Amino acid sequence: MSTKPAAPHVTNFIRNIVEADLASGKYATRTWGGKPGGASTHADAPADAARIRTRFPPEPNGYLHFGHAKSICLNFGLARDFSGVCHMRFDDTNPEREEQEYVDSILDAVQWLGFDWNVNGIEHLYYASDYFDFMYEAAEHLITAGHAYVDEQSAGQIRLNRGTLTEPGKPSPQRDRSPAENLRVFHEMRAGQHAEGSMVLRAKIDMASPNINMRDPAIYRIRKAVHHRTGDRWCIYPMYTYAHPIEDALERITHSLCTLEFEDQRPFYDWLLERLAEGGLLAKPLPHQYEFARLNLTHIVLSKRKLIQLVDEKRVTGWDDPRMPTLVGARRRGYTPEGFRLFAERIGVSKADSWIDLSVLEDCMREHLNEAAPRRIAVLEPVKLVIDNYPDGQVEACHPPNHPQKPELGKRAVPFSKELWIEREDFMETPGKGYFRLFPGNKVRLRYGFVVECTGCTKDADGRVTEVHCNYFADSKSGTPGSDSYKVKGNIHWVSAAHAYACEVRLFDRLYKAVHPGAGESDHIEDLNPDSRHVITAQLEPSLKDAQAGEHFQFERYGYFVADSVDSRPGAPIFNRAVTLRDSWHK
Ligand code: ATP
Ligand code: MG
Repeated sequence: MSTKPAAPHVTNFIRNIVEADLASGKYATRTWGGKPGGASTHADAPADAARIRTRFPPEPNGYLHFGHAKSICLNFGLARDFSGVCHMRFDDTNPEREEQEYVDSILDAVQWLGFDWNVNGIEHLYYASDYFDFMYEAAEHLITAGHAYVDEQSAGQIRLNRGTLTEPGKPSPQRDRSPAENLRVFHEMRAGQHAEGSMVLRAKIDMASPNINMRDPAIYRIRKAVHHRTGDRWCIYPMYTYAHPIEDALERITHSLCTLEFEDQRPFYDWLLERLAEGGLLAKPLPHQYEFARLNLTHIVLSKRKLIQLVDEKRVTGWDDPRMPTLVGARRRGYTPEGFRLFAERIGVSKADSWIDLSVLEDCMREHLNEAAPRRIAVLEPVKLVIDNYPDGQVEACHPPNHPQKPELGKRAVPFSKELWIEREDFMETPGKGYFRLFPGNKVRLRYGFVVECTGCTKDADGRVTEVHCNYFADSKSGTPGSDSYKVKGNIHWVSAAHAYACEVRLFDRLYKAVHPGAGESDHIEDLNPDSRHVITAQLEPSLKDAQAGEHFQFERYGYFVADSVDSRPGAPIFNRAVTLRDSWHK
């Protein structure tokens, strides 16, 4: 499939900020020492060739979902469009739950979406855990400068003493301990001399601040856990709110984009970086945080906790179940990177939370697949059609186009013979009004083939149709001079029964029947759609037997399908439906 350039972008408030910053020269004096680091790394270094730096900073504790795709397209897209660099950074400061398996799958997903952290031969792939030494020294600096103290209250006491929106917090008994004493205890914490939960390091800011995040937030805690990269070298770990601004500053990020729930953290982000810059640890200009609305999509959930529950309770077949809103699931479902990039452009970014209808994403997939996917013929619910006056044993070729809007893709030969598979719904013994397909006495065109006239059907003991019968007109073949003299209203598709590939095909519906699954107090599990997956045996045109895993097709009339990347075998692909066609065919 061709990689088309992203659609022309619509502007948004973040683009406007970047444009204004570039115009004012806000970052023009920024240097880059060739690698992330504190002030000394970037002092006397050349001007940064990257006009802006953004980053995508997942925690490696799960598989990426559609919301992450928005963030990836935003951050990498800005870097691409403004001659900048986007860093791929693992925010792996929490030793629990982080695993190499997730690291690998995240890297794979970002590349699959079409983005690269390798710019001009330099790999901008970073791990926050590589900054633990700096973070530790920065904490020592804050203590020495009187900006941090070790608090020995329990977590419960700290919470209790934090105050409320209407009441100021109460200072900790240790708040006015001397820097020397704080440093001594902090060193003991680091040396493993204190139990988990017995104390934390807190920034010393303002216990009466109207922003509760500024009431001496915790910045280091004790965790005697093994980290996936640093092993047991550390038994104290930085809190996310402390680590993240430092990571951005060491990497000289210009625009640090995060979701709205971090808005209240921005004052601490700025406070911390200012303190470290005035202490000479960080180079200026400092990064700036901007918040945007996270992606909310109808009919799915994007909460890691809920997704884990679906997998653990086996409500789905795994993280890569094609119904899952994960990127591994989407890929298997047949969604495309081009479709996701188009979606990200189309929904844009804003500061107001809103719900996007899942159909917007589906439309983007359709739009790309309509362009990219070659056409094939499939009969999903087959019944036999016997052409009684067609010679026994004769086989001839018909020639459907591979893409009606792209004649350059040519036509292919599909075999035509006496017995065909047609859709069961394309025959009615007693038709309703406006039904133009097969019924006794009616003529239809077998698409790309001949005009036939229905003569009747045979049925089993239960009255179910087993075979439809017809006669054909030998001079009516599509593409021959005689074909024009036949005027018929119905046009149905078919595959030759003797040549067809009988194949497992999976049709998906929305995973949740509720528009906002789990909204309010409800349990999202109860909102699951019990009929979200249908497995059928379809009859496909013979060439589909050779489809490669991951290859996309439009099955005429039914939508866009992909050869499943897990269950397909060479010469025996299995197909998943990615999306239906925009218009249902029923007429
Ligand atoms: P957790 O709930 O574990 O914090 P998370 O979904 O925030 O998970 P992260 O790994 O922290 O996952 O996210 C990486 C990046 O993706 C962050 O910058 C975050 O803002 C962004 N992101 C996550 N979910 C969404 C979403 N629904 N819409 C837009 N961006 C998102
Ligand atoms: Mg997060």
